[in-house]
Amino acid sequence: MKKKKVLIIGTGLGGLATALRLSSRGFEVEMVEKYHQPGGRLNRMSKDGFDFDMGPSFFSMSYEFRELFDDVKLPIPFTIKPLDPLYAVYFAGKKDPFLIYKNKDELAKTFAGVEPDFKNKLVKYLEQAKEIFHDTEYRIVKKNFESPLQYALSLTSVPLKHAGGMFTNMWQRLSKNFDSEEVKIIFSLVAFFLGATPYQTPAVYSLMNYMELEHDGYWNVEGGMYKITESIVNLLTDRGVKFHFNTEIISRLEVNGELNGFVDDKGKEWKADIYVVNADAAAFRGGIFKRKKFAEKKLDKMSWTLAPFTIYLGVKGKIPELHQHNYFLGSNFKEYADKIFKTSVAPEKPYYYVNVSSRSNPACAPEGCENIFILCPVPDLRFKSNWDDAEQLTKTIISDLSTRINYNLHDQTISQTVLTPLDWEEKFNLYKGSGLGLAHGMMQVGGFRPANKDEVFKNVFYTGASTIPGTGLPMVIISSKLVTERIENYVRTV
Ligand SMILES: Cc1cc2nc3c(=O)[nH]c(=O)nc-3n(C[C@H](O)[C@H](O)[C@H](O)COP(=O)(O)OP(=O)(O)OC[C@H]3O[C@@H](n4cnc5c(N)ncnc54)[C@H](O)[C@@H]3O)c2cc1C
Repeated sequence: MKKKKVLIIGTGLGGLATALRLSSRGFEVEMVEKYHQPGGRLNRMSKDGFDFDMGPSFFSMSYEFRELFDDVKLPIPFTIKPLDPLYAVYFAGKKDPFLIYKNKDELAKTFAGVEPDFKNKLVKYLEQAKEIFHDTEYRIVKKNFESPLQYALSLTSVPLKHAGGMFTNMWQRLSKNFDSEEVKIIFSLVAFFLGATPYQTPAVYSLMNYMELEHDGYWNVEGGMYKITESIVNLLTDRGVKFHFNTEIISRLEVNGELNGFVDDKGKEWKADIYVVNADAAAFRGGIFKRKKFAEKKLDKMSWTLAPFTIYLGVKGKIPELHQHNYFLGSNFKEYADKIFKTSVAPEKPYYYVNVSSRSNPACAPEGCENIFILCPVPDLRFKSNWDDAEQLTKTIISDLSTRINYNLHDQTISQTVLTPLDWEEKFNLYKGSGLGLAHGMMQVGGFRPANKDEVFKNVFYTGASTIPGTGLPMVIISSKLVTERIENYVRTV
C-alpha cells in the first residue's frame, strides 16, 4: 500500500514529536516552518560566543519524554537532569532568596521562622493536590474528546470531592493551608503559567504544586534545552523527513468545499493526504481557514497567557549570587498580579525570571563568562501594542537585577539582545505575542479548547500548546500522542 503523506505546518516541539510518532508508524512526513531553523519556542540563539535557549529553560513530567521515545522505540537522545534546588525566589528588600527544594526537610529549613509547622502543612496540602492530579491525569488530561458534551460527561467521572476546587481559587486554598505571605506567593507563581492570577485560577490547579514539589519536579537538559530540538531533528532527518524553513503557510486551496492543499508566502502549493497544524490552533483556524468562531474579534475575547519580554545577556565574570533558576519579585504581589494582564504601561518595578544555563552548561558561554536569560512576563499586544519603551524596560530590569545580586551587569555585559512581544509574534506567529498560547480557565480546557481535529476538513489535525491538553513541553508531547491516535483512527476509515 502507498505510504500516506503528511504535511506538518510548524516545527515546534508539538510538530517534531508528532513527526517522530508518525514517521515511526510508516507515514511519509514533510515539514514546513516559517522561522529559519526548527524548534519554535524551543529555539536557540547563538551570538558573540554565547548560546541562549530562547524560551523554555526547564520542564516537569519528564516521563513524557520517555513515553515519546519508548513509543518510537528509540533511546532518549539527550540527557535530562533534575533541578536541585528547583528554583530560588528573591523578594524585594530581602537579600537572601528562598530556595525551593523538592526534599521536604530541606524545604522546611527554607521556611523555618517564616511558616510554623511548615512540613506538616505541606504534606496535608500536597495530599489533596496529588489526588486531583491522579484523578484527572487519565480521565481528562490524556484523552481525546469527540465533543464538549462528551468532555462534560468525562468530568462527571472525576470524584465529586474535587468539585469544590472549581469554585474556590488557588489563593483561597493556599490561605486555608498556609499563613505566611511568602509561602502563598511562591506556591501561587505556577498560576501565571496557566494564564491567570492565583486569585482567578481555580484551586484544582494546586495539582501543579504537587507536580513541582513532589511528583516529578523540574528538569533540564545537559548542553542546553535546544539539544531536544536538535536531536529530534537529527532522528527525523535520518528517517528521510524533509524540512523546509523560511516557509510560511499563508492561505489554503479549497475546491468545492474540499481542501486541496496550502499556499506559502512565495506562492508555492503544498499538498498531502493529511495535514497537521502545529501553528496556534485557534489563530490558524481564524487566519487561514477564515472561521468566524476564530475571527480576530472572537480571539481577542478569549483569555491568553502573558507575553514574553526577554533579554539575553552575555556577561563577563561568574556570579555566584545567582542560582540557575531565579524569580525576582517585588513587594506588591496582589496589586501587581491584578494589573499585569491588562495594563498598557510597562511595569515600573517589574517581576521577572532569570536563568543562567552556563551555571550547569559551561559550554554555553566563553570561559569566565555567564549567559543570562531574563524573562519578564508582560501584557499581550491587545493591551500594550507599542514597545518603543523596550530600552527603558531593559535598563530598569538590568539595574534592578544588578542591585539585587550586587553585580554591575551594565558594566560587564558584552552581548545583549532584547525580544519584545512584537518580536515573538513576528518570529513564531504567537497570537498577539502571547507566550504560552491560550490560557487554561475552565472554559478553555478539555472539550472547550480548540480541538485537535478540524471541524470541517477530515484530514486536518492540530498539535501543540493551544489545542488539547495545553501548554508547556510535557503537555505538547501529550498533544502529539493524542493527535497521532486521531490520525490512526482517521486512516482506518479511509
Ligand atoms: C519565553 C518562553 C519561555 C517558556 N518557558 C517554558 C518552560 O520553561 N517550560 C515549559 O515547559 N514551557 C515553556 N514555555 C512554553 C513552551 O515553549 C511551549 O508550550 C511549547 O514550546 C509550544 O510548542 P508548540 O509546538 O505548541 O508551538 P511552537 O513552539 O510555537 O511551534 C509552532 C511553530 O509553528 C511555526 N508556524 C506558525 N505559523 C506558521 C505558518 N503559518 N507557517 C509555517 N510555520 C508556522 C512557528 O514558527 C513555530 O516554529 C515557554 C514559552 C516562552 C515563549
